[in-house]
Amino acid sequence: MLVVMKKNAAPEQIEAAVSAIENRGLTARPIPGGERVAICILHNRGAVDASLFMQLPAVKEVIPVTRPFKLVSRESQPFDTIVDVGGTPIGNGHLVVMAGPCAIESEAGALEIAQIVKERGAHIFRGGAFKPRTSPYAFQGLGEEGLKILAKVRAETGMAVVTEAIDHEVFDLVEHYADIVQIGARNMQNFSLLRRAGKSRKPVLLKRGMAATIEEWLMAAEYIMEGGNNQVILCERGVRTFASHSRNTLDLSAIPVVRQESHLPIIVDPSHAAGFRDQVVPLGRAAVAVGCHGLIVEVHNAPEKALSDGAQSLYPDQFLELCRQIEAISSVYKTATNY
Ligand code: PEP
Ligand code: MN
Repeated sequence: MLVVMKKNAAPEQIEAAVSAIENRGLTARPIPGGERVAICILHNRGAVDASLFMQLPAVKEVIPVTRPFKLVSRESQPFDTIVDVGGTPIGNGHLVVMAGPCAIESEAGALEIAQIVKERGAHIFRGGAFKPRTSPYAFQGLGEEGLKILAKVRAETGMAVVTEAIDHEVFDLVEHYADIVQIGARNMQNFSLLRRAGKSRKPVLLKRGMAATIEEWLMAAEYIMEGGNNQVILCERGVRTFASHSRNTLDLSAIPVVRQESHLPIIVDPSHAAGFRDQVVPLGRAAVAVGCHGLIVEVHNAPEKALSDGAQSLYPDQFLELCRQIEAISSVYKTATNY
């Protein structure tokens, strides 16, 4: 349920509506911005009687939120959320490019790749310090040392950094160093991790689980927003299908659906979708053409020597070409759709 206040509602009137809702044992979450203030009612069991709030001063209307995800829904917030990452806005129509290696392998390597991607068009640097690997024998990441290297990359290049918190145990540490905390596909429904992310003041990049429906994914985002963190960026990274020509199947239809259903920005990871570098550039182009707000891409200076995901990591020249092509597509997209 959404209690929509009149445009000129005074702060005391908004306060009074919040109190009226909370006095009934419900949670009131004001959603400021845009044309109006609306108050989303949460934690109701069953339908709420709209007439209880209709009569309050400066209330314009009381409308139901029909979706199971409330704060995430466009019904609650019609205008797009713009997540600010150290001065880089995500979701405002300007395409954001996050790029870097799958894993941070060494300081020199990370700094070199960071320079490469920055010069070629990246805005934000990616790199895993804690890696969720299928095999316990595979490279697990450098841990805190990797996070310190990411901090050095930020200091030397000015790029914000995104890196994954693979569990509750490392969340505080990752949160301390990262500009964006990534929650990976394997953890999309790790509800205690989502709750912890909800308490964070850092933006969260929530990847879609490899077998998750869009509703399950948006409900996972709802956990984070319900906890009080509105800075959520969604990331489509492909889902499991019967296909063997690619690592996953990039669900391009998810982008328009999510943009219709939610106000949160959505980016695409063509690298983990593809699994093979030759598919990454075409999938990146397609993702921009269906209206994503940005890409996150794996790039390595020597992919054949990478300690993880080398086969899907772009060579520097391929990344340059990707940036050139998506810039062109993005400008056509904006003109064609008036975005
Ligand atoms: C990653 O981005 O490093 C990663 C492990 O991706 P995903 O969670 O999408 O598999
Ligand atoms: Mn990877």
